[in-house]
Amino acid sequence: MIQLIRGFKDILPEEISLWQHIETEASLLLQNFGFCEIRIPIMERTELFARSIGEDTDIVEKEMYTFPDRKGELITLRPEATASIVRAYIQHRLYSQDPVQKLYTIGPMFRRERPQKGRYRQFYQIDAEVFGVESPLMDAQMIHMLMTLFSRLNITDCAAHINSLGCPVCRPGFKVALMQKLTDRIDRLCEDCRRRSAKNPLRVMDCKVPSCREALTDIPSILDYLCPDCHTHFETVQSQLKTLGVKHEIDRGLVRGLDYYTRTAFEIQTGLLGAQSAVVGGGRYDGLVKALGGPDIPGIGFAIGFDRLAELAALNLSDISKKPGLFIAALGTAAQLQAFEWACQLSVSGIQTEMDMSNRSLKSQMKQADRLGASQVLILGEQELNDKAAILRDMTTKTQIILPFDGLIEKLTSVWNSPEGCP
Ligand code: ATP
Ligand code: MG
Repeated sequence: MIQLIRGFKDILPEEISLWQHIETEASLLLQNFGFCEIRIPIMERTELFARSIGEDTDIVEKEMYTFPDRKGELITLRPEATASIVRAYIQHRLYSQDPVQKLYTIGPMFRRERPQKGRYRQFYQIDAEVFGVESPLMDAQMIHMLMTLFSRLNITDCAAHINSLGCPVCRPGFKVALMQKLTDRIDRLCEDCRRRSAKNPLRVMDCKVPSCREALTDIPSILDYLCPDCHTHFETVQSQLKTLGVKHEIDRGLVRGLDYYTRTAFEIQTGLLGAQSAVVGGGRYDGLVKALGGPDIPGIGFAIGFDRLAELAALNLSDISKKPGLFIAALGTAAQLQAFEWACQLSVSGIQTEMDMSNRSLKSQMKQADRLGASQVLILGEQELNDKAAILRDMTTKTQIILPFDGLIEKLTSVWNSPEGCP
């Protein structure tokens, strides 16, 4: 038997109602905050990711699914969505009417990393990006929106971690100070970080190798190097989070692994998922649109790890799976054909209806209805056909009523769709 690829997974019907519920809640909230959905391709030219994510990142160095297509052009399965959304924003000149655009997308991403709990090679993200707003109010609003989503999904054991990465004015001073510290400790760093410490020392702060983490214990904090503008920006983010009542912590060690981030960087972390504690990663990227050939327009965004969010939500949500409302148990060919006609009509009218199509006994049909979780069963045998009246059995109370064929569909749909619910 051919099995799926390592690190890939199926999301089975039993999990789907939770995934759909999360997707609905997230889309609704994003739309209420003024976001519009955008759908971007799953593949892009490799160059787009190499340029926007940065050549010396884990993603670009080790994790991308890159291959030549039949004509030899290098293409990559998207490891994240920001690069493509920025590309679309520039390519379609979405800024021409109004530079302010709020976009979101939901879909699969691909990274070839070591599969483990909470870490897959195809995983899903809910990604949101805002262009054209430099104000720190937007940073606070996005974190507030995320925490609202988490609380709507009954996830409370999580916190926003925030930091500022400065800007091209103040980051170089911090980089020099960091580089000095790293040079002193170069022999304690992993091979990648030795190379990175000279080229891009901030990357070292994002390394997950334990010896690197230890070597970084008393490094300088970027917050001590912020220029006045970046300082004020970060102060406003914090004061607005406070006003909105959003729990947050300053995390001086938090950097995003991507080249284009400036100023606010944030993560939402939880203690409930073991080693894979980050559920959301986000931040500002004021230089990215320009770096990719567009106008000088600021940006900020985040990506929620859908798989991790679903895992968290599953811990707290009661059963939300959709169960059929009605099961029609029919005995004999003539009854089955009548049941078939009704099942089609009722499904069209919005009542989820199931029936047996394989002539099973009444007993096994009742068992099937029970297994499916139907709340009502409409029973139709030879006797009922002769009497032109079916039996409607309530599976909870076990009471039965007689429903004449005449007006049966109208009666069922009107009662079902009434505020009191099914009969
Ligand atoms: P991590 O530190 O866990 O590797 P990251 O910094 O690489 O995360 P981002 O690029 O910021 O992750 O992506 C945002 C979110 O997407 C993460 O916080 C996480 O929830 C999720 N995510 C990233 N990589 C994976 C993966 N391989 N499998 C499942 N979820 C992932
Ligand atoms: Mg990663």
